[in-house]
Amino acid sequence: MSFSDIPVEIGPVFEGERIRAKQMYVELGGPKVEKHFELVRVASSKDIKDGQVILHGPDIKDMEEGSRHPIGIFVEVAGPELEEDLEAVFERRVHEFCNFINGVMHLNQRYTNWMRVSKAAVGKGFNSLEMLGTVLIRLFKAELPIIEQAQVTIYTDPKAIEKPYDMAMGIYEKRDERARTIHDDDVDMFYGCVLCQSFAPTHACCITPDRTSLCGSINWFDARAAAKVDPKGPLFEVPPGECLNLEAGEFTGINEMIKKRSLGEIERIYLYSGMEFPHTSCGCFEAIDFYIPEVNGHGIVDRNYGDVAINGLPFSAMANQTGGGKQMPGFNGISIQYIGSPKYQRYDGGINTIVWMNSGVKDRVAEFLPPDLVPKIATEKEVQDINALKDWLKEVDHPMVATWAALEAEEEEEEDEGAMIPMGTQSFTVPGVGGAGGFKIILKNCKIHAETIIIKKIEPPRKKK
Ligand code: SF4
Ligand code: ZN
Repeated sequence: MSFSDIPVEIGPVFEGERIRAKQMYVELGGPKVEKHFELVRVASSKDIKDGQVILHGPDIKDMEEGSRHPIGIFVEVAGPELEEDLEAVFERRVHEFCNFINGVMHLNQRYTNWMRVSKAAVGKGFNSLEMLGTVLIRLFKAELPIIEQAQVTIYTDPKAIEKPYDMAMGIYEKRDERARTIHDDDVDMFYGCVLCQSFAPTHACCITPDRTSLCGSINWFDARAAAKVDPKGPLFEVPPGECLNLEAGEFTGINEMIKKRSLGEIERIYLYSGMEFPHTSCGCFEAIDFYIPEVNGHGIVDRNYGDVAINGLPFSAMANQTGGGKQMPGFNGISIQYIGSPKYQRYDGGINTIVWMNSGVKDRVAEFLPPDLVPKIATEKEVQDINALKDWLKEVDHPMVATWAALEAEEEEEEDEGAMIPMGTQSFTVPGVGGAGGFKIILKNCKIHAETIIIKKIEPPRKKK
């Protein structure tokens, strides 16, 4: 496969390339644009023209520098062995293949896709989305030989994107609806995915009927189809093995898989917990499930939420904490679909632990939650800070309120023994070398408990005589 006709370099080495606002020529999709999507569908070979790229709307060269536009990427693929169940897995590769292009950054998937094209790339002549479509077609065929023909249609016009956007939303919903029909106890095979290891080398997704992949785009059916056609590929079978803890969802097969795939870094996974041996997170999670110690409950914030969450942190700050393939109790990257599963963080207390969600998430999942719980989950519309949340939870008699008395008793005991003293907001400055620069540490509403504090002067290293 040759890319000699494409004016920028193409290859996996460019994955992970960041294009900051200052470096970008245009932004396509993303949180500031209303409608955008990417979709792959299996078509009949007679209905598509192999290699063809169709563009509806302005091309990069017609776009003003620094502007934002809708983007719809619709890939149609054909081949005698293709089946509909493979579509979602193919679709996930759009992310990877776009990132192969030097000067193109792609984030997320489905209707949260977000791309930037750099000024440097446009300067070199990468000024047409037809080139993008051509690169996608060639990579799809080369990396997935089961695809024999491919055609790409790209939408950048806000009117023209409307219909295909609605069609894409309908298809995502259909896939999700089907995935809700089965559960972990109904199957004897789980799956794994390591597509994100180029970004998070110790991360592997465990995909089970109840835990759709955290990117939200690969459910159990999709993973099964992908592992069947390419068992040595990035999606593979994970025999569950022995169940060590039913409540937590701990399986010997999953533990063996994560140990091997994380190169020994991670040894155990509780599928149904965000607090103990939680599933690792790369960076593509649709939402973050975070623990709120003040109310002994959980909050959920999704990627589309632009404000700070109830704990005072924006999604981006929590995403840094959550991602990177680490096991981070209290911060768990999840798919929206998992929230509606009966296994949702069952080990931590399940769905009843949720005290706050941004309204965008709540609107999407409300119909799958216990009806009496729904009005007791606060959103940014009802409360803006933790104190208000506490009052609200008491007022609506949220199930977690019953756990507070026990928690307070525990805390009092601790205070008697040691010194758990509320410190308000504390700040101190760590000076830099020679007294210049340095940084300031601010601890908001902190309680500090320390048995001993040791402050040591750092002696400059002695010169050897
Ligand atoms: Fe695969 Fe998980 Fe990455 Fe989705 S988030 S592409 S399932 S590794
Ligand atoms: Zn990822």
